[in-house]
Amino acid sequence: MHTNVWYVDGNVDSEKSYPQIVEAAECLKQNEVVAFPTETVYGLGGNALSEEAVAKIFQAKGRPADNPLIVHVASRPHVEKLVTSIPKQADDLMNAFWPGPLTIVLPGGQSVARNVTAGLDTVAIRMPNHPVALAILKAANLPLAAPSANLSGKPSPTSADHVIHDLSGRIAGIVDGGSTGVGLESTVVDCSGDVVTILRPGGVTKEQLEEVVGEVAVDAALSDEGQKPKSPGVKYKHYAPTAPVTLVDGSEKYLQTIVDKRRAEGMKIGILATEESKSFYQADIIIPCGSRDDLISVANRLYDVLRQFDESDVDEIYSEIFTHEGVGVAVMNRLSKAANNRVINE
Ligand code: AMP
Ligand code: MG
Repeated sequence: MHTNVWYVDGNVDSEKSYPQIVEAAECLKQNEVVAFPTETVYGLGGNALSEEAVAKIFQAKGRPADNPLIVHVASRPHVEKLVTSIPKQADDLMNAFWPGPLTIVLPGGQSVARNVTAGLDTVAIRMPNHPVALAILKAANLPLAAPSANLSGKPSPTSADHVIHDLSGRIAGIVDGGSTGVGLESTVVDCSGDVVTILRPGGVTKEQLEEVVGEVAVDAALSDEGQKPKSPGVKYKHYAPTAPVTLVDGSEKYLQTIVDKRRAEGMKIGILATEESKSFYQADIIIPCGSRDDLISVANRLYDVLRQFDESDVDEIYSEIFTHEGVGVAVMNRLSKAANNRVINE
């Protein structure tokens, strides 16, 4: 399949019409799939009302069919058509965080294609805060199912180049609007029960949610491997570079001794460091992932750094760890998955 690339300014006025965006929207209306930037990562969009379009998303990504998709909308009336009710807490969260990196699981979902929800009686919805995503949603005038635009298991794409690397030839087109903002996926919260529950940590923190709705719960499966997650996708291998990643909970000196030992055994080693620590280390490749003082910069860089290791020929990757506070919760969630939960403690 030929994959079209449409270049647009990442700062388009989402209320105006642009020929590239009209073309991309036409493709979507014909139930083809198109990747586009959002403020979290690039999404692979398809008409959420069409089983045929949604099947193309699963196929292009190689995504397991029991992992439901997030439906993206540009306006509240679209939400009302897709759900059976909007609980007060969900309404408050939409007012506080939309458009933005918060996905809300609501009762309903019977009006979207059945492969969107993977058979659940809830549907996950988000209004993205990116002018290009909003312009496409408005031009298509459809709710769009849009998971991250990567091959299943790989790090999510934060640039059009990442999407081209994974999906060129497998999808109808890509709208290239430059790099994304947050760099990590949305926070997913379940608002279909009594207590708002975080199913996946992301750009909006627990503290920010609690300011709006009071006490917020966290799905037990996020900290306990033995529990069945409420968000089916959470159980899958994710974000993993080809070389195995190990997290090192200890000093820089300790991390270096592990690396020295492996290199002495003939292994090529990569280190995921920070701006502060990069000059301390010796390895085959050392990639700084933002600044330790600014977790947003770490979130921003993470997927690109994981992909850069794939471009190198290292055998193993060792990574520093970050604080489990604020955005650090989401950063550590993704890093732990990239590492398949391998941690060495000093
Ligand atoms: P992605 O689109 O790849 O960012 O992943 C979407 C995430 O939302 C996955 O972890 C899904 O399991 C989760 N999700 C989507 N729909 C639902 C739903 N109805 N209930 C719970 N989790 C959902
Ligand atoms: Mg994904």
